[in-house]
Amino acid sequence: MTTRQEPSFLDGVNLMFDRAAATLSIPHGLSEQIKLSNSVYQVRFPVRFQDEYTMFTGWRAVHSEHRLPVKGGIRFAPCVDQDEVEALAALMTYKCAIVNVPFGGSKGGLRINPREYNEEQLERITRRFARELISKGFISPSLNVPAPDMGTGAREMAWIADTYREQSPTDINALACVTGKPTTQGGISGRVEATGRGVQYALREFFRHPKDVALTGLKGTLEGKRAVVQGLGNVGYHAAKFLSEEDDCKIVAIVERDGAILSERGLVVEDVLAHVREHGGVAGFPNADYVENGLQVLEADCDILIPAALERQITRENAPRIRARLIAEAANGPVTFDADEILRANGKVMLPDVFLNAGGVVVSYFEWIKNISHIRFGRLGRRAEEVRGRNTIDLFEQMMNRPVPATMQEKLLHGADELDLVRSGLDDSMRLAYQEIREVLHTKNNIPDLRTAAFVVAVEKVLRTYSEMGA
Ligand code: NAD
Repeated sequence: MTTRQEPSFLDGVNLMFDRAAATLSIPHGLSEQIKLSNSVYQVRFPVRFQDEYTMFTGWRAVHSEHRLPVKGGIRFAPCVDQDEVEALAALMTYKCAIVNVPFGGSKGGLRINPREYNEEQLERITRRFARELISKGFISPSLNVPAPDMGTGAREMAWIADTYREQSPTDINALACVTGKPTTQGGISGRVEATGRGVQYALREFFRHPKDVALTGLKGTLEGKRAVVQGLGNVGYHAAKFLSEEDDCKIVAIVERDGAILSERGLVVEDVLAHVREHGGVAGFPNADYVENGLQVLEADCDILIPAALERQITRENAPRIRARLIAEAANGPVTFDADEILRANGKVMLPDVFLNAGGVVVSYFEWIKNISHIRFGRLGRRAEEVRGRNTIDLFEQMMNRPVPATMQEKLLHGADELDLVRSGLDDSMRLAYQEIREVLHTKNNIPDLRTAAFVVAVEKVLRTYSEMGA
């Protein structure tokens, strides 16, 4: 007997879409229009290093242009392919709709192991890839705006922005062609931490709803919850850091490329990061147990499992052994379609990627607005807020005839700066999005879980846009 293969990443996303679409009445034809990518561009280009040429292959998929620009990261990874890029582009469409960011979905990938190149070589490769995408309209402030993803960061985004500016010197909005730039190059405070911060805000909101927490069998707040985190990159590091430092979660294991470290006392995330930077992995981290087979540690006993590395980590093979009650999908696509069914059957609750890791695109949206409005958030209002705070303190002191305590004075005299506003906007976006998802879960028929509910929220919004446009 042959056993069916697990659906590919893209097929899995489409099956999740179908599950949600089956609960809605979508006009014939529109369902396919929403589900399938509008276009995919594949490019091969050579880069010369000394006397040799190396060929590279990259993709940019545009999933849905129901809103423009389309938005989505560019990843540099050795096994990127078209299926993966299309799957990630589709997730971007749904993600933007869920957090009410008015963008369509896109994603790019370059098949490369960035660790095999030095900075100068990476800059040449990135600029060449960017030129290819710009010349075909796949990077543009009004049409298609990339951002960082696996293997890329602020540095690559600055190179892409500069390449675009060189090719479009008269475009006054050139900086808005890409987000996730360094703050000195038109970036926004809080973008680097945004996805991990969004994971924290989303988990906080989940734990504000005892009815939802009860679905996991857990109780109370985030305090004292034992979490396992896979991937100590941008997303995993920030999520683990904020959850442990600000919400008193205990990070009992961190899984990296070279294995996993475990400590029931809780790992200090900053120390682990410093160790990884110095030694290239988690092995040898003091006062913790080391396990070479990192994947196995996803099955460890814990309250919250946070896969924050890459897709297809929980498959139908290991899903039956997952013990965490709550799986917080910080990465894109960490749970396959088959694994999702097994986990649900086992009573596990999943906070789906399309919602949970949307913090990055929310703050990217703020950065894009900053770039096209050419002004830093808080620049106009901050001092006025401080004057209002001063007046409030003076009035209170006059009327009560006693001084306002120093800590309260400090708070009242602090006008919101860009970082305060970004965090406030991100918190608001994640909270409202979760509330919309749980509303669907608890009020609509035939919605078995949060993932289906999130897809329903997304598909309804995209559908509404198409219907209103008369497409
Ligand atoms: P990153 O490259 O900064 O970090 C990835 C981390 O995972 C690295 O530390 C790497 O060493 C580790 N890793 C790689 N393979 C591993 C393995 N087999 N086992 C354990 N660890 C492994 O990438 P990132 O930006 O943090 O992205 C992580 C995930 O989050 C991806 O799925 C990405 O699509 C998703 N995501 C990222 C953002 C963002 O803003 N960066 C936004 C939304 C979603």
